[in-house]
Amino acid sequence: MDELTEPLTQGNRRALSRAITLIESTRPDHRARAVALLAELPRHQALRIGLSGTPGVGKSTFIEAFGKLLTAQGLKVAVLAVDPSSARSGGSILGDKTRMDTLSRDPNAFIRPSPSRAELGGVARRTRETVRLCEAAGFDVVLIETVGVGQSETLVADMSDLFILLLAPAGGDELQGVKRGIMEIADIILVNKADGELRQTAMRTVADYAGALRLLRKRPYDPEGFPKALPVSAYTGEGLEKAWTNMTWLADWRRQHSHFDSRRAEQARHWFLSELRAGLLAQLDRPEVRTRLTEIGDMVAQGKSDPDSAAAQVLDWLGGGQAQSPPK
Ligand code: GDP
Repeated sequence: MDELTEPLTQGNRRALSRAITLIESTRPDHRARAVALLAELPRHQALRIGLSGTPGVGKSTFIEAFGKLLTAQGLKVAVLAVDPSSARSGGSILGDKTRMDTLSRDPNAFIRPSPSRAELGGVARRTRETVRLCEAAGFDVVLIETVGVGQSETLVADMSDLFILLLAPAGGDELQGVKRGIMEIADIILVNKADGELRQTAMRTVADYAGALRLLRKRPYDPEGFPKALPVSAYTGEGLEKAWTNMTWLADWRRQHSHFDSRRAEQARHWFLSELRAGLLAQLDRPEVRTRLTEIGDMVAQGKSDPDSAAAQVLDWLGGGQAQSPPK
């Protein structure tokens, strides 16, 4: 058994941080140890909640308030981030250390920013595995936060039990600004900033989105009334309790109707295949393979070898088939 396993399953934070550092490492020996560690961890279940919203809608303010609401109920909450901006520039929209100041000091909360300078596939794997580590460490709720950029929402939805879209109050024309695909994966839309002068606009926005959600195709894993739109204020805390009640109610309904487990099963299958694909692609990046591929590419370009048969031979070689040496 790995020396991290026991302290990790007892909820030791240092062990959790060390385990996360281990899974983030690209060193082959670290990777092997990480894979072995993950395999021996008990399969506790936390409620995995994906949360998406464009910069400025109030994600950190919301998570701070919402997280505190949950920890006040005695729940242990982990907050993870998937930030495509950090993948591209090395700078992170979500990584700012001063965010969620109070929550980060809460003994029942654990906050881990998005790793920078990793490509999105790597961030996905690291986040997925961190979710598993947090579950093993006894967290009840894992919040996975992302900005609405590129593929990050689908990616987060694919590792969540519930997907929440956080929006700001806006005029009707902005409704079209939300991509249809994102609406289709949302379980609950929360319109934040429903306070003060913005309250009325927020209520109108809720009504607009409720209408838009009703027009979407009915999904088999939704009970009557879902997906739904609700107003919240991260400032005043209004609506947060109701949002949480709706999330747990929906999760319970899906558990009772076996949608919860079947969704996780499908996700596991999806990640297995995506990990396999990534692993195969990584093989192509090995220096000795790249050198050989350049040579074979030259031969194909010169017409000395046929593209399809050259590719078939390389695949056979990489897959450990009959050809144990690179094709000549
Ligand atoms: P993020 O970029 O999505 O993480 O958004 P932030 O949490 O940093 O919030 C963006 C801005 O919206 C900040 O100026 C917040 O003070 C403000 N904000 C966040 N939540 C609320 C809210 O519930 N009501 C109001 N009126 N403003 C809010």
